[in-house]
Amino acid sequence: MKFKRILLKLSGEVFEGDKGFGMDFKKILEFAKEIKDVRKSGVQIGIVVGGGNIWRYRDFSNVEFLERTDSDMLGMMATVMNSVVLSSALKKCGVQSRVMSSFPCESLCETYNIANAKKYLELGEVLIFAGGTGSPFFTTDSASALRALEMKCDVLMKATKVDFVYDKDPVKFKNAKKFETLKFSDVVKMKLGVMDLTCASLLDEGSIPMLVFNLTKKGNIKKAVKGVKVGTLISSK
Ligand code: UDP
Repeated sequence: MKFKRILLKLSGEVFEGDKGFGMDFKKILEFAKEIKDVRKSGVQIGIVVGGGNIWRYRDFSNVEFLERTDSDMLGMMATVMNSVVLSSALKKCGVQSRVMSSFPCESLCETYNIANAKKYLELGEVLIFAGGTGSPFFTTDSASALRALEMKCDVLMKATKVDFVYDKDPVKFKNAKKFETLKFSDVVKMKLGVMDLTCASLLDEGSIPMLVFNLTKKGNIKKAVKGVKVGTLISSK
């Protein structure tokens, strides 16, 4: 295996499937089965889940009476909902899994703590980091960079619906340029939009590579973990 400990970032899009909102439970269960398969190979797996399928600040920014900080908190709560559903699906598949939230949700899951989180990963549990960073004005991309650094992961794998990073939308533009490798500085310079700037600078500084890959192709996570080239590898050097 090329990677021993991975951090997988799943956006809310993954959870909504083709429904455009909410949860596609069939897709979530299929995904849990794929995680099970990867876990069997001995890789330690942490997952950061987005919340955009339920609540995203920018989708509700026109609601004048809603404070940005409250709206962001709702987004973070949405990530907790997704995390609990994913953890349940994993358990159903026989995978030991646990949710840790960045803010207290005591009756539902544990509060995040670096030392305990490391212990759970070492014990082989699939650990789901819920609640983003716990602070407004951030995204779950930044949360995933933060957790990847704190957990000393070998790679941050960002699941998308396309195979590679392109300079423009490959669905709309036939001449879109595909990148197999990139530097974080290129992402910033070219404003590629594959991650936000906080995420890029955290990973760059911590020398943790990001692999952007297509989750809709079955078996891709396992291939990537084995070192087979899938997707765009973004690194510091
Ligand atoms: N959010 C936040 N702080 C964080 C992570 C998320 O305030 O550390 C809020 C923010 O409002 C965001 C929403 O939660 O729009 C959902 O997260 P994100 O947009 O990253 O989810 P994704 O697009 O990956 O589904």
